[in-house]
Formats: sequence, C-alpha cells, structure tokens
Amino acid sequence: MSACLSKEGVAIVVPYRNREEQLRVFIKEIVPFLQRQNISFHIFIIEQSQKAGFNRAKLFNIGYKESKSVGNFSCFIFHDVDLIPTSPDNYYCCASNPKHMSVGNEKFNFNLPYGDYVGGVLAMTTESFLKTNGFSNAYFGWGGEDDEMNVRIKSAGLKTVRPSVIVGRNKALRHVQAVAGKDGLKLVETAKQRITSDGINTLNYALLAKNTDGLTTHIKADINAGLIPRAGNFLYLIFSIVMIFI
Ligand code: UDP
Ligand code: MN
Repeated sequence: MSACLSKEGVAIVVPYRNREEQLRVFIKEIVPFLQRQNISFHIFIIEQSQKAGFNRAKLFNIGYKESKSVGNFSCFIFHDVDLIPTSPDNYYCCASNPKHMSVGNEKFNFNLPYGDYVGGVLAMTTESFLKTNGFSNAYFGWGGEDDEMNVRIKSAGLKTVRPSVIVGRNKALRHVQAVAGKDGLKLVETAKQRITSDGINTLNYALLAKNTDGLTTHIKADINAGLIPRAGNFLYLIFSIVMIFI
C-alpha cells in the first residue's frame, strides 16, 4: 500500500456517545499502535450531548473544525470507536486520494460489505475533505452518511484507495446493532443535490466542553444548536411560555 504523504499532523477523529468501555479499549490500543508507526498524531473524541438521533457525520465535521484550535493538521482519519487495526502495515496517514482503511472488518467476515463502502475508518487530506465539502450534517440515526460521503468523493473527481483485506483488517468491539434509520437510507438517494448546500460550509453547533491532554482532546457539542426547531419543539416552547403566565 502507498506510503504516507506525511507522518506529521494526523488528526484521528472519533464520534462518540455512551461507549465508555469501548473508548477506554480504543485509546489503550491505538496510542501504542500509532507510536510504533512513528506518526505525529492527536486524537479528537467528539461527543454528542443530545440523547436522540446520533449524528456520526456531523461529529466528524465538528472534529475537523475544532482541530484548528489545537494544531495544524493536514490529514484527518475519521474513525469509529469500536474498530481496532490489527496490522502494523496499515499506516495511519493520508494518501492524495481518500483512503478507506477498515477494509477487513471483523463484523463483515473480514471483508468489505459492498464495493463502495467507506464506513468505519476513512482518511482524507484537508484538500480532499474540502473538495467534498466534508460530510453531510443531515443524517440522524444509523446509516447512510458514509454512502453520502462516497457520492461526494466521486463527484469531486476523487477515487477511494484501499489497503488489502489483510493489511486493512480490523478487530470489531462488540455492541448491540442499531436499527437502520429509514430517513438516512432515503436521504442518500438525493445526496448529489446537497453537496454544496450542506457540509463543512454550513456546519452549526455549540461547543459545550473541551478538555485536552497531550494526546487527546475530548469535545462535547450540542449539535442541534442553530437548527430550526421542529414542529414538536416549537409547540413545546409555546406551551412553556403559556405555563409561565398561568
Ligand atoms: N457511536 C457512539 N455511540 C452511539 C452510536 C454510535 O459512540 O450510540 C459512534 C461510535 O464511534 C461507533 C460509530 O459511531 O463506532 C458507528 O456507530 P455503530 O458502531 O453503531 O455503527 P455500526 O458498527 O453498526 O456500523
Ligand atoms: Mn460499530
């Protein structure tokens, strides 16, 4: 597999909520793994504060944005918390094209679930990331957001590269399988229409907390800040105001 563009300035971005044990194992395993590769890295744990609708892709966008206040990163590895690389030859760095790194996921029988799959672990240079306008912010619940990134990669004229299934083999930490959010799977059908109108250029959130040590930065974000309230929320607001006056 191709060598690193650079071993400097690699940001590992991990979307996170309520997976304490997995996060503990991930950090314990990935830090020595990266140190052995001589990579200059920083890990960003991006935690969603809301209970409802986990938004993996938006958390990735937030990680990209927040990395700017920590250092100068030229390579972003968007990484599920429950995947642990097993081959020392799976280099945690970027290629000029997006690099899908979790090719042999244990969950999919150590193979790709389908040819165009870019879920799990995906490495992108700043340049590639900006060409795609980052991830869509519209995916709440499980599924679809990675396929939308695949559409964006292709539309930007980029071509995903991959290590072999042996090099790209991942151990998968076990968890209860989320039910597919039907909205996400439907949204992918209109992915092309959103590329310029939804992404890193329209990202909106509120930073609630940020804790840094030498190797990791843990960020907590309110991802719904700045969104137009849904009808239900709006009615609740009216109800609350009325209650104040009676
Ligand atoms: N995730 C999380 N908490 C959740 C759901 C998802 O932290 O409640 C993060 C975590 O990094 C996880 C990734 O989002 O690895 C993808 O979600 P999940 O593992 O449920 O997807 P699957 O493995 O089924 O594709
Ligand atoms: Mn998982």
